[in-house]
Amino acid sequence: MLEGVQNIIRKVGQGLGLSPADIDYLLRFNAEHVFDIKLNNGGSCKAYRVQHNNVLGPYKGGIRFHPGVDIDEVRALATLMSFKTAAVGLPLGGAKGGVAVNPKELEPAELEAVARQYVAGLLPHIGPDKDIPAPDVGTNAPIIDWMVDEYEQRTSDLSKAGFTGKSLKNGGSQGREEATGRGGVIALREILELSGAESSSAVRIAIQGFGNVGAHFGLIAEQEHPGWRLVAATDSSGGIHSPSGLSSQGLSDYKKSGGKLREYTAAGAQAVSNEELVGADVEVLVLAALEGAVTEANMHTVKAKIILELANGPVTETAHDHLTQHGVAIVPDILANAGGVIVSYLEWCQNKAGEQWDEARVFEELERYMAQAINIASNYAKDYGLSLKEAAIAAAINRILEGRKHG
Ligand code: NAD
Repeated sequence: MLEGVQNIIRKVGQGLGLSPADIDYLLRFNAEHVFDIKLNNGGSCKAYRVQHNNVLGPYKGGIRFHPGVDIDEVRALATLMSFKTAAVGLPLGGAKGGVAVNPKELEPAELEAVARQYVAGLLPHIGPDKDIPAPDVGTNAPIIDWMVDEYEQRTSDLSKAGFTGKSLKNGGSQGREEATGRGGVIALREILELSGAESSSAVRIAIQGFGNVGAHFGLIAEQEHPGWRLVAATDSSGGIHSPSGLSSQGLSDYKKSGGKLREYTAAGAQAVSNEELVGADVEVLVLAALEGAVTEANMHTVKAKIILELANGPVTETAHDHLTQHGVAIVPDILANAGGVIVSYLEWCQNKAGEQWDEARVFEELERYMAQAINIASNYAKDYGLSLKEAAIAAAINRILEGRKHG
């Protein structure tokens, strides 16, 4: 993933006529912090924070708790964060963190101890105007709340602005939980409108990864776009396909009651594997699970005309190039899933101002940032003959280098 991310930045940078020194600057990591966290079994696990670039503002990025976390994954995700914040016009830089641990295997008290040690290990390097962590895969609001508490005890900073993704009662923002899914709906609507497809026919959608982001995407799409039809959805255990349409609300309620998607019963519905979902006969394929979902091995099966990358890096470099050459519009992760970091930024603004905004205000701001970023990237794509991913990266490069000039 790191190689793929760096290759596309290099390629777009060269296309913009940047010097090797400028490209090195865009790929360079400002700082990397690696340390050990003690576990109850007497062993330890590695903890990481990679701070990529902060020329546009404080570093911003989530913390992942997952056994597969390693330095290269954190570097790739940190780089993507700098380009994401820049592409959507936020005054923030990019960072990412992780702990190589499986949170599902830890008792709550040990999970809390890991979260607190993570903050203690990074104390000099984080803070409201330095680096503002948030949740990512394997972390959530309760874990962030423990981190905030540890930070407050060690620094006496009670502003709550040093972390985002907090619980509402602890300074979190309205709308944060659904922000990434909602941002994805806005991104798809904008792309359909720009391509003139929004009103022309029904839009059939398949969602890979009906988790937090994928399910919110489905639920909001269902409420706000009755012309869009969900026809397939999967999670890690497989899923369900029905050409006549599925209810996201129905699927979500079924999952919450402990049901498995592949066992969901609906008229004309059949179980599908994740591989089959990638090749589903739909207009829009939403990838909301993990990286590397569409690769050289399955890219030839894709029938969708639009791919929405809600996960980070779900389409590999080779698959991206092949699909865009065949006319598929890939709405890249740094735009499609930016709703989360946009509302994180709004949470930080509320904490800094000592305010709590209502949901309508948060969604209005989210809408504005998302629509603007999609339109800027689309214009770049048209003007310079780039794919949307390359265009979003070009827009981000220009902002970062402009920031360096004035920094
Ligand atoms: P989640 O764990 O709630 O959901 C992930 C879903 O994907 C789960 O339903 C899981 O069963 C499913 N899944 C896992 N492997 C799969 C596979 N091989 N095929 C199909 N489904 C599979 O996580 P989330 O918060 O919804 O995040 C999803 C993705 O979006 C991640 O890649 C994350 O990095 C990215 N993302 C999340 C946010 C956010 O705000 N949560 C923001 C930006 C990006």
